[in-house]
Amino acid sequence: MLRIAIQKSGRLFEDSIALLRDAGIAFGNSPNRLRSQASNFPLEIIYLRDDDIPEYVEGGVVDAGIVGENVVLEKRKTVRVVDRLGFGKCRLSIALSKGTPYRSVQDLNRLRIATTYRHVLADFLAANGIQADVHEVSGAVELAPSLGLADAIFDIVGTGSTLLANGLYEVETVLHSEALLVADPALTREKQEVLDRLLFRIQANRNAKNHRYILLNAPNEKLSEIARLLPGMKSPTVLPLATEGWSSLHSVVQEDVFWEVLEQLKAAGAQGILVAPIERMIL
Ligand code: ATP
Ligand code: ZN
Repeated sequence: MLRIAIQKSGRLFEDSIALLRDAGIAFGNSPNRLRSQASNFPLEIIYLRDDDIPEYVEGGVVDAGIVGENVVLEKRKTVRVVDRLGFGKCRLSIALSKGTPYRSVQDLNRLRIATTYRHVLADFLAANGIQADVHEVSGAVELAPSLGLADAIFDIVGTGSTLLANGLYEVETVLHSEALLVADPALTREKQEVLDRLLFRIQANRNAKNHRYILLNAPNEKLSEIARLLPGMKSPTVLPLATEGWSSLHSVVQEDVFWEVLEQLKAAGAQGILVAPIERMIL
């Protein structure tokens, strides 16, 4: 039995639930959102505040957790990063009041910077040899400059609209963060096996999302050129068509280059191109 912590409510909740459900794990909605037991997989889900997850994982209270990299770095707990999950994306940035000029990181010297992320900020300042006056606050960081509490802030930026609304502008991006699957570095073999099975499913889903299945027809003399455009998992499948001198070619193509590849295939003489989504993909 593996115990995994996810955020009880907030920005990571929906995507964490979807990740587990897409991995074929069935569990009910816990009425009080404390814990849920999966009915078809040796997994127990514990719902926590995101800030508590690194500590619980380090202490072995839970075996694994889904939590933002920003929180993992700030809490300075010893956890193993098992996978980067691709959701909960945000950045941690330093922002100044619109009127304050900024040329380089040196301009941060002696400024008062308000933040809830003092450890991540301290690492950045130390790495750049900056002496600043860090004010730890527990919330509403973006108000600090207009209240006269600080000259700058260091905080999470999603779209940047909150900064704008508070008369601030971003000057340094310190961290690009996303949700991580983290685990206790010292799992028993049995728990590690469950985690490996979970990871296998998560990765099969991600690979499927990142690829498309592609089928096309081509004259035989064009096949080798077309096959070079579609490396596929090993190499494309080629099947003869009933029409003499023609073949059908099956492969996979990466989602992010898919339109470019389609244009090249067409130019190389491919016809009747079909593109279909993939449900699961194991490399
Ligand atoms: P909790 O009650 O669990 O302490 P919280 O208020 O600290 O919740 P949320 O605002 O739900 O946290 O954010 C959770 C995580 O979502 C953040 O730590 C960060 O990793 C990620 N995230 C992604 N986009 C954003 C964003 N635009 N603003 C804030 N966090 C974001
Ligand atoms: Zn939190």
